Amino acid sequence: MPDPVDVLIVGAGHAGAAVAIALRQGKFEGTILVIGAEPELPYERPPLSKEYLAGDKPFERLLIRPEAFWAEREVTFRLGTTIVSVDPAGHGATTDAGDTIRYRRLVWAAGGAPRRLDCGGHQLAGVHTVRTRADADRMMAELPDVTRAVVIGGGYIGLEAAAVLAKFGKKIVLLEALDRVLARVAGEPLSRFFEAEHRAHGVDVRLGAAVDSILGDARVAGVQLADGSVLDADMVIVGIGIVPAVAPLLAAGAVGGNGVAVDGQCRTSLPDVFAIGDCALHANRFADGARVRIESVQNANDQAAVAAGVILGKSVDYDTVPWFWSNQYDIKLQTIGLAIGHDELIVRGEPASRSFTVIYLKAGRVIALDCINAVKDYVHGRKLVVEGHKVDPARLKDPAVPLKELAG
Ligand code: FAD
Repeated sequence: MPDPVDVLIVGAGHAGAAVAIALRQGKFEGTILVIGAEPELPYERPPLSKEYLAGDKPFERLLIRPEAFWAEREVTFRLGTTIVSVDPAGHGATTDAGDTIRYRRLVWAAGGAPRRLDCGGHQLAGVHTVRTRADADRMMAELPDVTRAVVIGGGYIGLEAAAVLAKFGKKIVLLEALDRVLARVAGEPLSRFFEAEHRAHGVDVRLGAAVDSILGDARVAGVQLADGSVLDADMVIVGIGIVPAVAPLLAAGAVGGNGVAVDGQCRTSLPDVFAIGDCALHANRFADGARVRIESVQNANDQAAVAAGVILGKSVDYDTVPWFWSNQYDIKLQTIGLAIGHDELIVRGEPASRSFTVIYLKAGRVIALDCINAVKDYVHGRKLVVEGHKVDPARLKDPAVPLKELAG
């Protein structure tokens, strides 16, 4: 029987790549094997709904590291391979080809799969999700024949895809089931700003819109709404969130549910099994200790650094302030902190100027900022969030007062 792999990483995405990089940077000399379901070496996912979809960035520039980097550092990949079960007692993980890989430590970095619609017609050709390069390539191949597209879901991915397609001159209807876009992640002023921007770019944004079914024979032809109305469509893009890819770990007895539960060192309840990235359910100081899953590059990279640190024998805890970005048209949104549970909201600057900041407070302390084309607020706002001092709301609101002054 071959020796166990010292570190087996499941998932060749942002978090999987980052943990391998951090281990080698930390002079880890053991064997590292990365198992990835997709055929590609790790690549950046955010451009899939931005520059890559727009045709502005070729795939080669999305690679997190070139092939030679991995070879030089003796990080081995088995791509196009899925881990289907884990035997925690035997320290083994079994692939979809049926072979079992023994490990000393396992890092589960499997992200999530796009949530799919379950209504009639959801499987028709022309109905897309945006999670992988293959998803984006399929959409891009169809785009020349698309005149009308319906985007289902007013979260960041749906909004970004709508912005790219609108720039291509497609007729877009964006359907959001709630009464505003970004309702789960942002305050109302930000939602209204993005709704107005999309409408100004010709996107027909419909709120409180429930989908009944997708219509078509072999290929999508339209979307029927719950009110009986029908929208013609040559393409449907579904952006309604992800389901964390943790089934093999939960089946092996790991504690979890909507994700796999980890402690401050990214350890799951299974021996020698870590979990990081989109699939890791963790208590986050910036959510007042609530258990959350954070779907961002920051979280994937920083949890990877923690898991690698623990494997390297360091004393580390995951305690990084969350940050995120989104690009739509010429708008750059930068978010710092988590707006969860805010009890006060301040708009700093004029949304009409297309440069402003939404500041979220809880008990008088700044917990998050959404900065629209406002880089300085983003940079100095970080300190406000991290330090958690009470700040005078009148001064926060006044764009003439640099946040730098308030951050002391
Ligand atoms: P992933 O990058 O998804 O990697 C997981 C990998 O594991 C996948 O390749 C998957 O196929 C593989 N896998 C799953 N199950 C198995 C298994 N059983 N065996 C083997 N392999 C498996 N974040 C931002 O911060 N800013 C943005 O602007 C932004 N934009 C985004 C736009 C899009 C279109 C998408 C999809 C995401 C975006 N994100 C953005 C989120 C960010 O990309 C994710 O948070 C990040 O990719 C999470 O990294 P991860 O390693 O946890 O998961």
